[in-house]
Amino acid sequence: MPVLAIVGGQWGDEGKGKVVDQLSETADYVVRFSGGDNAGHTVINHLGEFKLHLVPAGIFSSHVVCVIGNGVVINPAVLKSEIEGLNKSGVDTSRLVISNRAHLVMPYHLLQDELEERSRAGKALGTTKRGIGPAFADKTNRLGIRACDLLDKAALGERLAMALENKNTLFTGVYGVAPMSYDQIYTEYCAYADFLAPFIQDTVVLLEHALTNKKRVIMEGAQGALLDPDFGTYPYGTSSSPLTAGGSLGAGIAPNRIDSALGIFKVYCTRVGNGAMPTELMDDIGDTIRDIAHEYGTTTGRPRRIGWFDAVAARYSCFINGLTSVALTRLDVLDTIPALKICTAYELDGARVGYFPASVADLEKCRPIYEELPGWNTPITHVRKFGDLPIEAQRYVRRIEELMGCDVGMACCGPAREQVIQMKQIF
Ligand code: GDP
Repeated sequence: MPVLAIVGGQWGDEGKGKVVDQLSETADYVVRFSGGDNAGHTVINHLGEFKLHLVPAGIFSSHVVCVIGNGVVINPAVLKSEIEGLNKSGVDTSRLVISNRAHLVMPYHLLQDELEERSRAGKALGTTKRGIGPAFADKTNRLGIRACDLLDKAALGERLAMALENKNTLFTGVYGVAPMSYDQIYTEYCAYADFLAPFIQDTVVLLEHALTNKKRVIMEGAQGALLDPDFGTYPYGTSSSPLTAGGSLGAGIAPNRIDSALGIFKVYCTRVGNGAMPTELMDDIGDTIRDIAHEYGTTTGRPRRIGWFDAVAARYSCFINGLTSVALTRLDVLDTIPALKICTAYELDGARVGYFPASVADLEKCRPIYEELPGWNTPITHVRKFGDLPIEAQRYVRRIEELMGCDVGMACCGPAREQVIQMKQIF
């Protein structure tokens, strides 16, 4: 099975970084395909603890070629400091490749993000203010600047002049703030161009060659299905598709080349930012889970909202992602929780519904219908075989599997690479 997509099944932060890091050991290529530095993976392995924002989590496996795909928007300042930080920790980044088709996050995108969020006042989307939404909007609006433009400074200057004229009209005319300086941005980006040029390649050529030679490729997603612009809790979502299908576009690997799709799910739910979350816990149990699990965003440090496992949303996610298997993470977080709830359906306007509504207004009205299962009340961080888990933990995993209608291929019981229970061959 040479091409595996690894995608977030919920609202992001499911632990994709850990799973990609682990499965990279047997991969040849890891291609990150969506989002920008608004996403963040935490990876803990024999080399230390790392917070990645743009570099694929395969970077710790010394044989793996790591590709930042065309579907990622890159803030060169963030990428440069991430590469330098990894090098300082002894991680070799010479196998990193940046797609020449990837779009760049520019300083005016950060300002635009900030101004737009501020203007939404009480209806703020809760973006990370890293300019990701405006960068993707410019991509669609044909105003973007791409990595290939860094290789041609005259083209960079031309593209920048055109984009900046548009942005400065917006900043001065609509928001009443000072215009940004062309010279300052151009000089700054010429310096990034010199630093990043050796990494920039045509990754279609690279990956075509890889697939022709039957290399093993992991497509690494960012964020999660419920933030997808089409299928997520619109407008409270992200600007690029975190789905398997988004992986096709964002990596340049056609759908019929993808052999399997692994969805990552926490055994409960979390969400950063605003928008409906039917199983959200506003009580002590939510606070307890947040504290045990240190549920604070990797990129923003914001406390994550906590909820019970939502099997309605999970089943939806399995379908829209075409998942062939699931990895459950953070089973250990529930070690001390006496009774566990799983949402099996919603009550909407007095009726029982088993689907995930399109409208956020409807989703906000949905009351979760729960099934309760006993907890296991014993530590499981050392367990490596499914049969060695307490029977209550086994039942909890199997019930989630049954409700989702998709096989659980692995369960994680701690943040370290080896804290994994392998249940089926995934890659
Ligand atoms: P990602 O963006 O999906 O990679 O997720 P994040 O990095 O934002 O958050 C996942 C966090 O969960 C990281 O800090 C991981 O180290 C941690 N993690 C992953 N799997 C497990 C697990 O099974 N148990 C515990 N306790 N932590 C885990």
